[in-house]
Amino acid sequence: MYYLTRQIAFEASHYNRISELSDTENYELFGAAANPNSHGHNYVLEVMVKGNVDANDGMVINLTDLDALLKSEVNANYDHKHLNSQHPVFSANPHLLPTCENITIDIWQRLATSLTEGLLHRVRLYESSTTFVDYYGEDRMVYHTKVYEFSAAHRLHSQVLTDEENQEIFGKCNNPAGHGHNYVLEVTVKGKVDEKTGLVVGLNVLDEAVEKQVYTRFDYKHLNLDAPEFETLNPTSENFVKVLWDVLEPNLRPAVLHRLRLRETPKNHFDYYGES
Ligand SMILES: [Zn+2]
Ligand SMILES: [Zn+2]
Repeated sequence: MYYLTRQIAFEASHYNRISELSDTENYELFGAAANPNSHGHNYVLEVMVKGNVDANDGMVINLTDLDALLKSEVNANYDHKHLNSQHPVFSANPHLLPTCENITIDIWQRLATSLTEGLLHRVRLYESSTTFVDYYGEDRMVYHTKVYEFSAAHRLHSQVLTDEENQEIFGKCNNPAGHGHNYVLEVTVKGKVDEKTGLVVGLNVLDEAVEKQVYTRFDYKHLNLDAPEFETLNPTSENFVKVLWDVLEPNLRPAVLHRLRLRETPKNHFDYYGES
């Protein structure tokens, strides 16, 4: 099986507001996106198709055909439009909000009906470089990811190994004075899109949990010295991503934490899906 990804971009404006709610309630739910005067994004869309290679032309799909479909189904309906008032589906259904989740599902439906069954694998829509939604066509079950960055120092050192063993295993990362990273944490929650809000999780829920549970504990800290979690635990990224899971997961409920991806440097990242 082969997987192929094509990317396009479009620019659009929108707002997220539920008409029955007050101004305050809308801002609580959607943050700045509730501004009735609208805001906009440079959306980036990644369409992943899967299939076998055709023996004659050596391709899974002709990219010219896929581009034509993206142009007629995505660009024509989204690019340089105001989504609440000019998109054919969102303008006809004021209760269906043009959130990143609902847009991703709408694009999936537009593409899936024109492509051979089973060909479309994933639609990923970036609302910004730090927020994106994945949809696999699973009955409105989406994966919402937000990317956070924080800075911390650490020293890789295991208390059950000798100093010589630590030096041999961890090398310069065992420097007694420590070193540091700009850690990048990708938080992915999954769930069915709420029909009323068009969201899988309130954006403030994610931001508040990361602010309270991650930034206050670890941002601009020395993990070995400032964080009780690492008093005896070696702060490798494997151990760190589990510590992050354990402090975040209970504070995101009822949203379901699907995956944490911790980038220690641009050259490595660590994924954790929980114990189960
Ligand atoms: Zn927006
Ligand atoms: Zn390090």
